[in-house]
Amino acid sequence: MKDNWQEKIACATKCSRCDRKLGPKDQRIFSVYDHEPICMECKRKEEQRADYEEVSKRVIGECMADVELKYGDPEGYCYKHFYPHKCE
Ligand SMILES: [Zn+2]
Repeated sequence: MKDNWQEKIACATKCSRCDRKLGPKDQRIFSVYDHEPICMECKRKEEQRADYEEVSKRVIGECMADVELKYGDPEGYCYKHFYPHKCE
């Protein structure tokens, strides 16, 4: 699941959840459910889901096993699920 993820999130031109257009300066973040880039509004909705915490923990476990970078590393895969960033 780590193949091309940087490119995927950096260059996504729309939210994969609601199809809202994402400009280069719009913040986006990975969904913990399907690992697709989504807009911040959709992320807020995702955070409301009853199983969000459980799913998040699983994602953290998975991606820490997957990549050598630590969870808190801004370049890491995990990080992009919990911290928004822009396409630049
Ligand atoms: Zn959206």
